Amino acid sequence: LFPPCASDYYQFDDLLTPEEQAVRMRVRQCMEKEIAPFVAEYWEKAKFPFHIIPNIAKLRIAGGTIKGYGCPGLSITGSAVAIAEVARVDASCSTFILVHSSLAMLTIALCGSEAQKQKYLPSLAELKTIACWGLTEPDYGSDASALKTTATKVEGGWILEGQKRWIGNSTFADVLVIFARNTSTNQINGYIVNKNAPGLTATKIENKIGLRIVQNGDIVMKKVFVPDEDRLPGVNSFQDTNKVLAVSRVMVAWQPIGISMGVYDMCHRYLKERKQFGAPLAAFQINQQKLVQMLGNIQAMILVGWRICKLYEAGKMTPGHASLAKSWITVKARETASIGRELLGGNGILADFLVAKAFCDIEPIYTYEGTYDINSLVTGREVTGLASFKPAA
Ligand code: FAD
Repeated sequence: LFPPCASDYYQFDDLLTPEEQAVRMRVRQCMEKEIAPFVAEYWEKAKFPFHIIPNIAKLRIAGGTIKGYGCPGLSITGSAVAIAEVARVDASCSTFILVHSSLAMLTIALCGSEAQKQKYLPSLAELKTIACWGLTEPDYGSDASALKTTATKVEGGWILEGQKRWIGNSTFADVLVIFARNTSTNQINGYIVNKNAPGLTATKIENKIGLRIVQNGDIVMKKVFVPDEDRLPGVNSFQDTNKVLAVSRVMVAWQPIGISMGVYDMCHRYLKERKQFGAPLAAFQINQQKLVQMLGNIQAMILVGWRICKLYEAGKMTPGHASLAKSWITVKARETASIGRELLGGNGILADFLVAKAFCDIEPIYTYEGTYDINSLVTGREVTGLASFKPAA
């Protein structure tokens, strides 16, 4: 049905519905033809290629699984394979979409009022407006439930005061989903903040070594007024943000799968083309062993990623399931990218080659949406019944 890639060794397409295969094909074709030519240059300059937004919009993947409100209503598997195909060519582009779609749009869809969904989701689905999602703060990363940004009730709305750090897309987002502590209840609430709200600033974080195209920002809110109609009625505690994170972790797990596929596909080609000692690099046993190790990792990662989607669809997925998928797949992707980097020799450290870029891009993915450690502790708590997030007293 569509061009096979070398990394698809166990013919994963057979596990997909025709609709899921179709979205996979259209994303792959668009990424390879229309977006791949630009990404290395923008990655190197740490700039966002705004001109590709219409191409991404055309793919109809923003909004993922959300039904109605102009969203595509894909299956979670369809949405996940679309993200993997974006990441196969460029991880930053997949992060841009994930923050917009699986974090911000999903929060509005799951926790917003009917009026908020109608007001915000249609233009976000068409990427006419862009969203970001602000939970992390300078002093509260893994320990996000302790966040200190405050929301104080005033006549007709709320006053937000505080800071956010690392927020993807925030330097240009039109719509900012922000979490803050309600000063009356001491619980976490969610708000939709307009980019033009007085008192709001977002400054780009410079010098990232990975996902350089993604514009991560430090947000400062000084007495930012948010009208009552922009408070998300479904966010009443930190547990409500966890509901969103459990789903988005499924999607995030597919980024390292896509990255690893891209790395393998390039290495496979490269080893057959480049010669040393009078033979293609692919003819050396050590190199074949490395290729096969990467290939084995990828087949296992795909099957874990696919199974987590099926558990979600069957209503059986637990937070521990999602955390295990995200953390384990990311570790395997780190290993795969590292082997790929070795296989390209000197070219393995040049950003013009997809492999070096992927090698760097996997690092922030290892850390965001819960670090490897924190996701391990989420699964660990589930399988033992014992929480170990805080040091013993
Ligand atoms: P820390 O929490 O300071 O952790 C440092 C180290 O200590 C880690 O290795 C961690 O695993 C370990 N550690 C911490 N607590 C424990 C514990 N209890 N037990 C064992 N080990 C522990 N956030 C958003 O809200 N929105 C975004 O769009 C967003 N995008 C991001 C994009 C990038 C590129 C990056 C790097 C981050 C992004 N984040 C975003 C923030 C991200 O979620 C946090 O960086 C992450 O949760 C880790 O927090 P931290 O960086 O403060 O690390």
